[in-house]
Amino acid sequence: MNRTLYGNLIFELSKKGRKGYSLPQDYDRTHTTAELPETLRRKEAARLPECDELTVVRHYTNLSHNNFGVNDGFYPLGSCTMKYNPVINEEIAGMKAFAGLHPLQPAVTCQGALEVYYNLQESLAELAGLSEFTLNPCAGAHGELTGLMVIRAYHESRKDAARTKVLIPDSAHGTNPASAAVCGLEVVEVKSLADGTVDVEHLRQLLDEMGSDVAAMMMTNPNTLGIFEPHVLEITEMVHKAGGLMYYDGANLNALLGECRPGDMGFDVMHINLHKTFSTPHGGGGPGSGPVGVRKGLEQFLPTPRVKKVIVNYDIPEDGPTEWEGFIIDWGQGDQEKPLGSVGNFFGNFGVMLKAYAYILSLGSENIKQVGPLATLNANYIKERLRDDYLLPIKGLCKHEVVFDGLVDKSTGVTTMDVAKRLLDYGYHAPTIYFPLLFHESLMIEPTENESKETIDAFIDVMHKIAEEAKTDPELVKTAPHNTPIGRVDDVLAAKQPVLTYWKSLENE
Ligand SMILES: *Cc1c(COP(=O)(O)O)cnc(C)c1O
Repeated sequence: MNRTLYGNLIFELSKKGRKGYSLPQDYDRTHTTAELPETLRRKEAARLPECDELTVVRHYTNLSHNNFGVNDGFYPLGSCTMKYNPVINEEIAGMKAFAGLHPLQPAVTCQGALEVYYNLQESLAELAGLSEFTLNPCAGAHGELTGLMVIRAYHESRKDAARTKVLIPDSAHGTNPASAAVCGLEVVEVKSLADGTVDVEHLRQLLDEMGSDVAAMMMTNPNTLGIFEPHVLEITEMVHKAGGLMYYDGANLNALLGECRPGDMGFDVMHINLHKTFSTPHGGGGPGSGPVGVRKGLEQFLPTPRVKKVIVNYDIPEDGPTEWEGFIIDWGQGDQEKPLGSVGNFFGNFGVMLKAYAYILSLGSENIKQVGPLATLNANYIKERLRDDYLLPIKGLCKHEVVFDGLVDKSTGVTTMDVAKRLLDYGYHAPTIYFPLLFHESLMIEPTENESKETIDAFIDVMHKIAEEAKTDPELVKTAPHNTPIGRVDDVLAAKQPVLTYWKSLENE
């Protein structure tokens, strides 16, 4: 096969006048532009590639072969939980009965979908140990912003709105401070100890200084180093005493599922990334879903819509029962008690919810208890087997992910970046690198609970092999990747001077 031909840009395959479609002779194109005002219409035809159908099909099929997904191979990206996404979830989300719904159709005509929505709200509340969930937010960061808005609404309702500070550990995911800033709150960093956990003494000092200004503290537990915070109960108690609320970043709940619950640790508000914890393919920008849950007493601050189970009395023309246990949509419009209204598009990303619900049901309440222990076992197995070659800054038990600080042997000059690039040559996606920021050469691996021992062993062998190569042939590693369609790219140039259109790239020549 001539890979080079189809590896070209689609513009380079273009032949003037060639078409992959035909329209009826009498096709009237005026009606398609008639409603556009003159000022918005093109003055000249768009410069689009002109190709025959088969060329287009081959071009995109070949492009897809250059991609790497969870279904291609092991994808140990830490903090992002790239796990198995069963195809049955896609089939369920694509069912006409769900995909064909209109968000504004009357509740009586979509009781089945509302039941799924309601059941997911309830399942998440049970798994999290909280009172109620909204499924409205469309991503993790969107959930964080929503949760902080809930917290602000709570303080305002108590005439305590001067609380504008949010305490965030320095190990937190970057979206935490970003969400706080977008919410108009001020970020105060809490230091970590050498073992990666929250410095409780520093927190105490901050609370002494500014306790009455603190709206909330945001925490991830296990934190982004994969370490369970041993003083979490003391921390939640301290912040509560100062009048602040505790926010839990539950983007990745793998380590906890079946073991313990944020609500039981004293957290008041949290989000869950359905697109990480409960499958659903992600990366590349979504769609995602970041439901937000609250403890008892905060329900009225959650955004709408929320689906409720009540005795409904629908007026149905046929003679079946008109009163039964059914589902209504609470939009909360004009309701003083529901200050946030809605934060997303109608119900949020329902397709992602269907996949998450299918995943939860397919595991069932018994098997879901295995998720945390298996995710933890897999990460610790990797940790113990790689620590001879890769520097382990934090030695204790980790949870679902493990962070190394590059290779043990720094004399070779081979960096974490080089190791990550070399992994691509062996058919593995790179782990998360240079995050968390606590170490210079962070290499963060999350195997997830889905991977077999054989898969993990093969990965470990390759990691050892790369460590060996770093000693015997460091140039090979430093110039990797060698087997991918594109070799080592200049990350800085790509970020500083992105060339995003073909015509632009020609002008630059
Ligand atoms: C992924 C992630 C987020 C953000 O989620 P998005 O859906 O990407 O907005 C927040 N916190 C942690 C710990 C994460 O891993």
